[in-house]
Amino acid sequence: MELNYPFNACKSLLTDTLETMSDTVALISDFYTEDEQKAVLEKMLQNGKEIANIGNFLTANKSAGENLLERTQNGDVSLTKSNISEVFDAMYEEYLSNTNFTEFSKYSKFVEAVQSLSQANVAFGAGIEAVITEAIVSTFDPITKQPMVDPVKGAKCGHTYERSSIIELIKRKPKGTRCPYVGCHEKLTLRDLQDDEQMKLYLSQQRK
Ligand SMILES: [Zn+2]
Repeated sequence: MELNYPFNACKSLLTDTLETMSDTVALISDFYTEDEQKAVLEKMLQNGKEIANIGNFLTANKSAGENLLERTQNGDVSLTKSNISEVFDAMYEEYLSNTNFTEFSKYSKFVEAVQSLSQANVAFGAGIEAVITEAIVSTFDPITKQPMVDPVKGAKCGHTYERSSIIELIKRKPKGTRCPYVGCHEKLTLRDLQDDEQMKLYLSQQRK
């Protein structure tokens, strides 16, 4: 399938970039003054997160395209010329909501490299902790993809969602809905939801 070539090329470029960033991040102490290092590291973390996000956009796009192709080939009659782009968009959104940027290949390796650098380098001080947390914690609701305001988590798997959107999902399947995170198969009912105190604290610190 021709779809695969551009996808694979882009994905390996993004993965290689993250890998190179992991390998070179420790060198910033050789090239920048102590004052500059923190800003450079912040910039690298922002870029890394952006790369991982783009990777997930691509994956969601490809998955939606493949799914549609398969349905067309199987003669799915619910697909028409007039609704096909709408169906594609809905599927793309669904795939996207099932992925978290931190799961993109090589991203965790990059964050680990940044973490070990900041631990070894006291010059970054406490301020860098918040920047790193920002790079690993998604403050977006996986269902609506809007910033979370009132976060709750699943008691069994620990995944976090915005209260109103997970409650809406559960209301549609009162016997239990599957956790919306990809690869997580926990069933959630209203009783499984707990306030996510850690995320609440983080969000309130962020607002300051
Ligand atoms: Zn989960």
